[in-house]
Formats: sequence, C-alpha cells, structure tokens
Amino acid sequence: MIPKIDTELCTGCKSCIEVCPPLAIVVENEKAFIDPEFCEECGFCVAECIVNAIAIEFPSSTKK
Ligand code: SF4
Ligand code: SF4
Repeated sequence: MIPKIDTELCTGCKSCIEVCPPLAIVVENEKAFIDPEFCEECGFCVAECIVNAIAIEFPSSTKK
C-alpha cells in the first residue's frame, strides 16, 4: 500500500523526504505529497514522521 499523508497534520518538516529511497515525496507549501509513480511502499516515511501525518491504510482495517 502506498502511504497516505494527512495534510492537516503535516508541518512540512521534510524529514520524510530524507528517508525516502526513490525520492517519491515532495513538499509544497509546507505540505508533503507522495508521487505514487515512484513510491516503493517501503514504509520508511511512516516511521519517520514525528507528527504521525503519514499512515498506511489497509483495506481490511478501520473504515470511515
Ligand atoms: S513508502 Fe517508502 S518509497 Fe513510498 S513515499 Fe514512503 S519512504 Fe518513499
Ligand atoms: S515527516 Fe511528516 S510532518 Fe514532516 S514533511 Fe513529512 S509528512 Fe510532513
């Protein structure tokens, strides 16, 4: 699964960019976005984000 970024929580700190091997994350206007074309679904960014703005949503887990 490609992680989802909650732009409400994202502070634009860019920590996630530094841990993303394929450089799939960009920060614009202090909000991070993942380019699904480049994401390798490694999950490193999820572990890195200190405000927990990045999460992997599994289809079988919590639904809104
Ligand atoms: S899951 Fe891995 S490849 Fe995808 S955006 Fe996060 S760090 Fe980058
Ligand atoms: S690590 Fe989290 S808060 Fe920082 S830019 Fe990435 S998504 Fe936003």
